[in-house]
Amino acid sequence: MIAMARKTTAERTCAGCRQQRPREELVRLAVVAEPPYVVADARGRLGGRGVWIHAESECLKTAARKGGIARSLRRPVTLDSAVIADGIVAQLERRLEGLLLGAHRARRVAVGTDSVRESLAEGRIRLLGVASDAAGRRDELMASAERLGKACVVLGTKADVGRLFGRGEVAVLAIEDGGIAEEVRRASAHLAGLRPAGTFPHKEPVEGAEGAASSPDRQVESVVEDRKPE
Ligand SMILES: [Zn+2]
Repeated sequence: MIAMARKTTAERTCAGCRQQRPREELVRLAVVAEPPYVVADARGRLGGRGVWIHAESECLKTAARKGGIARSLRRPVTLDSAVIADGIVAQLERRLEGLLLGAHRARRVAVGTDSVRESLAEGRIRLLGVASDAAGRRDELMASAERLGKACVVLGTKADVGRLFGRGEVAVLAIEDGGIAEEVRRASAHLAGLRPAGTFPHKEPVEGAEGAASSPDRQVESVVEDRKPE
């Protein structure tokens, strides 16, 4: 056990394709007693046994069908990979919303074209987020961010992103905190494996995010508290 605890260089085996990958490339599923038997543990903080897997439907299907998850449960169970995938998507979306709103509350996000330009010019930007339907200046800003070696992620529509921040339409934003930027990049990459790009955030508030647009602070708190699965 001690040897395992010391093993921090973190490669994990995907329960689907069985590839060994750095843990950042996989999501953790925590094993629970009731269906769907595993719940997403995007922050890797839930205790107990877990399974690591690519956030991709193929790996989830394989793990559900060929027993990669059942093996870790040490008993035969019927698994629905679509339900598991939905759970992962919901948690990643909640996580992304929490990260964006947390950055907003900490004043570490520049919102809107002019603010993003300033952030780029002054070198504060760590990650560029663009709305899926942002036109025109989006390409120019993405090119600038790429020149600076900063990651870009595609979010939902301008209206969706605006709603998240309790304003009208928002086409672009710049995260200015390195830690938050890395978490956003990672969660977006996982999310992209399970649903079409440019669909986050939802039009409907996600589960547990009632009143998200009108009360961002309360939502951040609910996200922070939301570490235990139902
Ligand atoms: Zn895999």
